[in-house]
Amino acid sequence: MLRTHTCGELDALAKGTDVTLAGWVGSRRDHGGLIFIDLRDRYGITQVVFHPDKNPKAYDIANKARPEHVLLVRGTVLKRPDEMVNEKIPTGTIEVEVMSAEILSPAKTPPFEIEAETEPEKEVNEERRMQYRYLDLRRSRMKRNMAARNAAVFSFRSVLQAEKFLEIETPLLTKSTPEGARDYLVPSRQHPGMFYSLPQSPQQYKQLLMVGGIDRYFQVAKCLRDEDTRGDRQAEFTQLDIELSFVERDDVLNLVERLIRTCITTLSEKGFIKKRLLYQQFPRIPYDEVMLKYGVDKPDLRFGMEIYDITETVRGCGFSVFTDAISLGGVVRALCIGGGVSRLTRSAIDELTELVRKYGAKGLAFIKVKEKRNDGSGFENESPILKYLDDDVVQRIITQLQATSGDIIFFGADARGIVQESLGQLRAELGKRLDLIDPDVLAPAFVIDFPLFEPDRENGHYAPMHHMFTMPRSEDLALLDTDPHRVKSWQYDTVMNGYEIGGGSIRIHRKDIQEKIFERIGFSEERRAMFTHMLEAFEYGAPPHGGIALGIDRLLMILLGEPSIREVIAFPKTGDGRDLTVGAPNNVEQSQLKELGLKIHVKP
Ligand code: ASP
Repeated sequence: MLRTHTCGELDALAKGTDVTLAGWVGSRRDHGGLIFIDLRDRYGITQVVFHPDKNPKAYDIANKARPEHVLLVRGTVLKRPDEMVNEKIPTGTIEVEVMSAEILSPAKTPPFEIEAETEPEKEVNEERRMQYRYLDLRRSRMKRNMAARNAAVFSFRSVLQAEKFLEIETPLLTKSTPEGARDYLVPSRQHPGMFYSLPQSPQQYKQLLMVGGIDRYFQVAKCLRDEDTRGDRQAEFTQLDIELSFVERDDVLNLVERLIRTCITTLSEKGFIKKRLLYQQFPRIPYDEVMLKYGVDKPDLRFGMEIYDITETVRGCGFSVFTDAISLGGVVRALCIGGGVSRLTRSAIDELTELVRKYGAKGLAFIKVKEKRNDGSGFENESPILKYLDDDVVQRIITQLQATSGDIIFFGADARGIVQESLGQLRAELGKRLDLIDPDVLAPAFVIDFPLFEPDRENGHYAPMHHMFTMPRSEDLALLDTDPHRVKSWQYDTVMNGYEIGGGSIRIHRKDIQEKIFERIGFSEERRAMFTHMLEAFEYGAPPHGGIALGIDRLLMILLGEPSIREVIAFPKTGDGRDLTVGAPNNVEQSQLKELGLKIHVKP
């Protein structure tokens, strides 16, 4: 070893010890003839001191040392005088008096300061950070995030190992099958004109492992989907992928709850996070209830402000906006903003109206709930729509929403999908605007009882809500022929703070049901043939099985309070899919293309 200690571990107990440290030069201060350098490595910072008289050679080196030079020092640990103690760092009670020093590697002036990150005005442009990721990784934010990610993954492994799961790797070069997202394709040299695809997830392999009798599998799996990148999504991301045989839904959910709890406890104990769980137990909420109350299938449960269905309350009320929506088969829903009258200005309401318009709503009707009249005869409400509504209807709405004086009630009346989405987005926006969200709270939950198919057909066919391997409820099997949209499935999602952090299901393990699903989703013979391996495997004794995949990047982003998953990935991609550190994608040599039998028709 080149060093005896790291830069983060020496304290007053080491007084008098001779040590060798190596690290990067942080700040350097010349004081009264002495030079002080903050030597930094992954573990911390140690102050090292150079005397011109005692050790002139070392002093000369210190004089030459510039920020980010890699420096090796040998010296003695001294206790700092009381007035020099720095309580902010663990090594703050000592310094190392340097006897000899060596510059192991010089450094150019870095494109951004490594230690300036706590000053927001010096926050570095993110593309720059990605280009020089090896420098960015030296900064405390990335160091913390990488260490926290390691701790999280380690915690998952320890839970799963203790519960007899086998960690098994599945292939990266696999077969393209129509599964939802776009595949990344890899041309085959040995089979010209043919392609491998990179896995969107190990879904089929993990099911085949179950048929293979590996009844408890997991993998920290890379998944690749050729999709546009955004803050919480990268084309290349990592899942904690899990599959189990002979289980029911709640067995999987209980396991996921143990995994997430252990992860949070581990990160808290190691000092990475200070967050508290909102609930003792993760709630399990049916999909229909979630869509009604929160308007989205990944609700942020850190605040209430639920949406109410008032279709029956206003049916036949005479206000055409409501009654027209109902007669066209739509719904009327409302949400109540406590104290909204004083908290939302006219222009704020205009902005919210614009917001719901983006999601297809025609407008945003509201009622400001005001004090009772002096004679106690009802509310002195304010709203442009009051003239169309009888007092008793308004009163019933107020009662249903438990509104009180000073609240605002917002309404949505349209097709169900539009009302859900627009009020769901309105609720999320109000949560932020009105500061209803405690950033130190974690609100994980499971959404259960999903429909098997998406509400809208794609090209005249039913599209699976999760994926085509999800088991329909046995009591709904007959509906697959008569009314597929009413079929419920064994899908479940894990959500946290407004994000989906995992999804899974109990799977189909019977050939006949799998074939029926292929038929309903409109697979041609050709497409069906792509899954022969699955259908055949089911003929050789497939155990009932189910599983889930947790998005490790997204979970860490939420736990660490980061704004994007790029902050928890060592080498992330940009929005347009580039790796700025190495410069991928790039052009390849003609000879490589030739070997693969490929010709490029589109010039970049
Ligand atoms: N393979 C699925 C996905 O990536 C997860 C699962 O069903 O286990 O969404």
